[in-house]
Amino acid sequence: SRILSHLHPQPEDQILKLTALFRDDPRPVKLDLGVGVYRNAAGQTPVMRAVKAAEKQLWQDETSKSYTSLAGDPGFHKVMRDLVLGDAVDHTRVAAAATVGGTGALSIALDLVKRAAPGATVWVSDPTWPNHVPIIGKCGLASNVYRYFDAENRAVNFSAMMEDLARVAPGDVVLLHGCCHNPTGANLTLPEWQEVARLLTQTGALPLIDLAYQGFGDGLEEDAAATRLVAAACPDTLIAASCSKNFGIYRERTGIVLAVTPDAAAQGVVQGNLAALNRLTYSFPPDHGARLVTMVLESPALRADWQAELEDIRTSMLGLRRQLADELRARTGSDRFGFLAQHRGMFSRLGAKPEQVARLRDEHGIYMVGDSRMNIAGLSPATVPALATAIAACGI
Ligand code: PLP
Repeated sequence: SRILSHLHPQPEDQILKLTALFRDDPRPVKLDLGVGVYRNAAGQTPVMRAVKAAEKQLWQDETSKSYTSLAGDPGFHKVMRDLVLGDAVDHTRVAAAATVGGTGALSIALDLVKRAAPGATVWVSDPTWPNHVPIIGKCGLASNVYRYFDAENRAVNFSAMMEDLARVAPGDVVLLHGCCHNPTGANLTLPEWQEVARLLTQTGALPLIDLAYQGFGDGLEEDAAATRLVAAACPDTLIAASCSKNFGIYRERTGIVLAVTPDAAAQGVVQGNLAALNRLTYSFPPDHGARLVTMVLESPALRADWQAELEDIRTSMLGLRRQLADELRARTGSDRFGFLAQHRGMFSRLGAKPEQVARLRDEHGIYMVGDSRMNIAGLSPATVPALATAIAACGI
């Protein structure tokens, strides 16, 4: 038979399937808390003001769309290195490559690990972003899980996490969410991050930090604090950062791998390998989104406006969290949903059973992912009461 007839059908993407179900639901009142895209109170995902201004300026000023360099534009490396790492490490130790979104950054980072340590196991939190384990496998690496989420309290089970991380081998990789854990919303405190960093230096494992939501949690600097702390403590650190959410440029596919290397000599070799991996994967990385990010971060006026808009996004999600926790306290007479106000980022795992998630959908038109992950940005102050009523009615 023909080669192409040997392929297996692929499992449906659960979140995209949910989006289609929602779209086809004829009920006039329904609520989509599924896909991980920020939406304002009007349900829109607008182009950020500073990004639009940069785009207009770029349209006027850009004189060529010839190729950039294999690792992307050095100006983009610099602004992103500063945004993510600040002064945490000596800049001569940092190698960087622009990538196709945060997903591309993860993939290139893991390709780099495969070259350096083909037998490495990559440890991921239980649970983690559903794309992590398949990408690790695609890069030819083994994966394993460390305990992370305590389903009972909807918080991090830190002692279990530390117990599991203590067993990681020196040549292994530990994948950490730098902030705003997806899908749970539960995060480590800074003192806990310090303990993790200390353990990583003791075991000799390589940290790989996925930073997809900087600015969505406690603030731009605050959300980078864990990444900086780990990078400062460990001899080497890989970071896969995404600009999709905090610049609202999802479809432009803008991300970066930052590799903090042991010394300036290693930096050159790692930089060469990152460029080579980009070359093998797609030759040159996309430039449009990276250039917009660079323009916004380099212009004091655009940067200030971007930060203000990002801060509005962040505080609106925080307000929705508090409102929902308050409404649930009023309806259930208990504090068991207080975790919603403690969680950070766009998601919280509600902790509902699959049949309760189904009831929310069938009886109340409320769509969340099967593991009961809710996109907080799918709410608005006007829809929070209906969600609280439905959660209480379903006995969650
Ligand atoms: N990592 C996490 C945890 C995410 O949630 C996402 C996006 O949903 C990404 C990485 C990748 O984002 P993108 O490839 O769209 O930049």
